[in-house]
Amino acid sequence: MERPHSTRPSSLTGSGRPVSYHPEPVKYRAVFFDAGETLVHPHPSFPELFALVLRGEGHDVDPVVLRESIHVVSDRFAQAAEDRELWTTSAHRSKVFWRGVYVKLLGRLGLSPTDELAGRLYAEFTDLANYRAFPDVRPALERLRTAGLTLGVVSNFEEWLERLLESLGLTPFFDVRVISGVEGVEKPDERIFRLALDRAGVDPSRAVYVGDSPALDTRPAESVGMLGVLLDRRGRHPDHAGIRITTLDDLPAAIGLEA
Ligand SMILES: [Mg+2]
Repeated sequence: MERPHSTRPSSLTGSGRPVSYHPEPVKYRAVFFDAGETLVHPHPSFPELFALVLRGEGHDVDPVVLRESIHVVSDRFAQAAEDRELWTTSAHRSKVFWRGVYVKLLGRLGLSPTDELAGRLYAEFTDLANYRAFPDVRPALERLRTAGLTLGVVSNFEEWLERLLESLGLTPFFDVRVISGVEGVEKPDERIFRLALDRAGVDPSRAVYVGDSPALDTRPAESVGMLGVLLDRRGRHPDHAGIRITTLDDLPAAIGLEA
């Protein structure tokens, strides 16, 4: 059932007595989340794990060069989105995608990418044990759930995100889970957002989408009519024009729940 619309406080009734004023009821009924860098992250971090694997294979890595080259990963994501590559939709496509990332990074480090090395990196980065939830995730989800909101995940991720959420104990929070590797459609394609809205039975005007990428997350979500909230954990988008938070601790207040 829809929640009643708020009524503006009017100072007096016909009888001359003040009307009791209820604060603005929560407008939103559902909150959907991106996964990577929003809910979960590699642990050790991507560059740390990358260096660790290489060291294990006898290659010393210059951490400065690695740090300066790490944009290769986000550049590759952006390119895949622009070209609508559907890189998550099969194990083969995912391997090709990541191999391309590793080859670029290894090249910058002066190493030649062998199949064995690429395979070893892929195995580590798809190992559930090498991921964690950010510490602000669970408290925020609990707060939103207590407020009666439907929660969901909409993610460009291989199908194993289901197992990752399960292993992190997050699955019970999410009534709706739309994973590109399962559905065959990736953000920023608006259909993936509509799929989540349909499954939740929520109108876009009553839904929030939280993610770390303006291009993949907030922009397409807003274009289907949801409220986009940019989660800018690393301060990469200080001039973002829409709603921007740097921790999920600030999400309830950002969407009109009391702090
Ligand atoms: Mg993300």
